[in-house]
Amino acid sequence: MTALDRLAEKLEQVGDVRRDEPMSRHTTFGVGGPADLYVTVRGIDALARAARLATEADAGPFVLGSGSNIVVADGGIRGVVIDNRAREESLDGFRVRIGSGASFAGFARRMCRTGVAGLAWAVGIPGTLGGAVVYNAGAYGGCLADVLQRVRLLDPAGNDEWLDAGALDLTYRGSAFRRGGLADRTVLEAELALAPGDADALLGEANGYDQRRLTAQPRGRNAGSVFTNPPESPAWKLIDSVGLRGEQRGDAAISDLHTNFFVNLGQARASDVLWLVEEAERRVFETHGVRLTREVGFVGAW
Ligand SMILES: Cc1cc2nc3c(=O)[nH]c(=O)nc-3n(C[C@H](O)[C@H](O)[C@H](O)COP(=O)(O)OP(=O)(O)OC[C@H]3O[C@@H](n4cnc5c(N)ncnc54)[C@H](O)[C@@H]3O)c2cc1C
Repeated sequence: MTALDRLAEKLEQVGDVRRDEPMSRHTTFGVGGPADLYVTVRGIDALARAARLATEADAGPFVLGSGSNIVVADGGIRGVVIDNRAREESLDGFRVRIGSGASFAGFARRMCRTGVAGLAWAVGIPGTLGGAVVYNAGAYGGCLADVLQRVRLLDPAGNDEWLDAGALDLTYRGSAFRRGGLADRTVLEAELALAPGDADALLGEANGYDQRRLTAQPRGRNAGSVFTNPPESPAWKLIDSVGLRGEQRGDAAISDLHTNFFVNLGQARASDVLWLVEEAERRVFETHGVRLTREVGFVGAW
């Protein structure tokens, strides 16, 4: 029995385990090779237990939300990927506690429908609450930092604690999870402070955002904006200006509709996506002297 076999046996006590699971099935971009062990957990306790087991075995974990902001390498991910479906929810007035595996957009839309204000801007953002914390997800002038009160985190030693949002260093599409300070923490759950609102008005606002997305963003498989917008100019303008609109490499392409969206036309390989990303970075730097910053995470065995 290998170490991986023993770990798989332990993880089976916590969730559903698959071997060599293609990550292309679990990312919105639709690229990525196999995860050695892929465990689906359906609660906060199970998430914490799976993370502890993987850490003890020195096998990750990589915590996956909805895979909407990552490009996984063709070589896949070594060790354990935790497919997080911890979706518990409790309400205390307008203070809400939610599991990190909950759908952020689904929750936001439900809040609008029930006349709870604070998240109308989020109705079109794919992904889980955990992913939204890591990226301080935002759109149309709002971001998670506006409503996030505190998060419960698990550290690599297996201990969990609540941290105030102020300690997460949340900035435009960034946080201490991305910049290193909290990179090895698992977000277990989060607490948001919302407010009373008018359901009709909130749904009207949400519908307006839906329409804006439908006209501005390409359909098909993608991971949203590939780069954050530098102070000098929106990333799409810089990429467009260096002649990359519609550029293709294999089945990966820079969208014709929005040049900060890269799309999978069918059977794209992660290496083709990376080639396009590096080409955009190189040309924009050579032409404008601007270093683009990746919003999308490149993860796994490159
Ligand atoms: C069509 C489209 C439109 C988009 N529009 C927007 C937008 O308007 N605004 C915006 O901000 N984003 C947007 N995004 C990007 C994406 O939806 C967000 O970044 C989202 O918050 C990612 O969540 P996720 O669950 O999919 O994270 P994943 O892609 O699964 O993971 C991203 C990173 O977060 C880590 N992570 C996830 N969950 C946890 C956890 N519980 N604990 C620790 N680490 C964790 C992962 O390990 C990984 O490093 C868009 C994406 C798409 C495809």
